[in-house]
Amino acid sequence: MAQGYKDIAIIGAGAAGCFCTYFLLKAGFDVTLFDKASPLRTLLPTGGGRCNLAHAIFDFKELAKNYPRGEKFLYSVFSKFSTSDTVSLFEEIGIETYTQENGRIFPTSNSAKDVREKLLKKIKNANFIKENVLEISKLDKDFKIKTTKAEYLFSDVVVAIGGKSSLDILKNLDINIIEPKPSLVGLNTNIKFPAGIVIKNVLSKDINQFGDILFTHFGISGPLTYTISSIKARESFPYNLSFDLYPETLDLQNLFNKNPHKDLKNILSEFLPINFVKSLFPELGEIKAHKIDGKARDLILDKIHNFELTIFGTNKGEETVTAGGVDLKEINSKTMECKKYPHLYFIGEVLDIDGFCGGFNLQNAWSTAFVAAQNIISI
Ligand SMILES: Cc1cc2nc3c(=O)[nH]c(=O)nc-3n(C[C@H](O)[C@H](O)[C@H](O)COP(=O)(O)OP(=O)(O)OC[C@H]3O[C@@H](n4cnc5c(N)ncnc54)[C@H](O)[C@@H]3O)c2cc1C
Repeated sequence: MAQGYKDIAIIGAGAAGCFCTYFLLKAGFDVTLFDKASPLRTLLPTGGGRCNLAHAIFDFKELAKNYPRGEKFLYSVFSKFSTSDTVSLFEEIGIETYTQENGRIFPTSNSAKDVREKLLKKIKNANFIKENVLEISKLDKDFKIKTTKAEYLFSDVVVAIGGKSSLDILKNLDINIIEPKPSLVGLNTNIKFPAGIVIKNVLSKDINQFGDILFTHFGISGPLTYTISSIKARESFPYNLSFDLYPETLDLQNLFNKNPHKDLKNILSEFLPINFVKSLFPELGEIKAHKIDGKARDLILDKIHNFELTIFGTNKGEETVTAGGVDLKEINSKTMECKKYPHLYFIGEVLDIDGFCGGFNLQNAWSTAFVAAQNIISI
């Protein structure tokens, strides 16, 4: 052990827990790592199996803007450990990275499995206990961790249980929890369109962003929907969304004049997928252009430029992250230590921090893990 007496437990062997373990082992500490399942299995599906481990934004304040919850808190965290540190650290553990055109950073191997294996090799000296943690309690001196099999005492505990999980393990502690809500998820809509249709470069008026909409059997999905679901994660259902499906000038009258004997559906299919047009205008779609009067034309244009959907909920099981978790007011952002319980730390998605798609959520895990480890090492 490097200095002083510390018995360190990390609960949760996901991205944050394993990174924190790496830093602590490197500094010469003993670490006991608890997980109810295999370590780092949560990394395997990331980035579609390719592990989008960071995003190429190198100014920490700009980086923090990509977190609908946690932006200000992350200033201090990212000032200590940000994108370039992540890339260097991955290099240190033998993982080269590259940046895609859209700024997403991936391992050169394009393999989350490879990242997992390399990171696991680096933390093989941790004492791994595969048990489900049921509760954490504060005793006079130590923390007691009760699992399904036994009870353990530790001087320092790092909670890294992720977003999806067992916040009730904190029930014996006086810690405020912001109710977790699904984020980066598909949305259930009132009207359904044939599944698989994609409309490209749509404007979401609610969040003033362009992107593609994918229609599914439950509603809408895809990157733009994920961003909407993230920004609106704390809004109650139902809520309405408005889109411009063709955010350019569409001179429909001119097209009608040039193609008087064409069906509306065939005219519009140059701008929108034909199956979508057929569903949006089931009757009008079959009518010849010369028979469509000015009132009907304006109605058609309004449906395209002010396309409205009512959102009733999120698509269960599809959520990538959760908005909510341990209230950031409980945590010192310079150390990740709990203000009410010295030597108790929270890192990663268990916190009320979540980012957009693109490597931001893993960056939060790496950075908060570093800050907690640095603090444990230095005191
Ligand atoms: C399909 C999918 C794809 C994603 N892709 C990306 C991506 O490409 N880029 C990106 O930045 N983010 C991505 N994310 C989000 C990212 O994976 C998470 O934000 C990140 O894993 C959070 O890390 P964490 O360590 O806080 O929690 P986790 O990685 O979830 O780890 C928590 C660990 O704690 C353990 N645990 C929980 N409760 C207990 C308990 N009571 N006792 C014992 N162990 C417990 C769990 O078993 C788990 O191993 C993706 C998420 C999903 C679901």
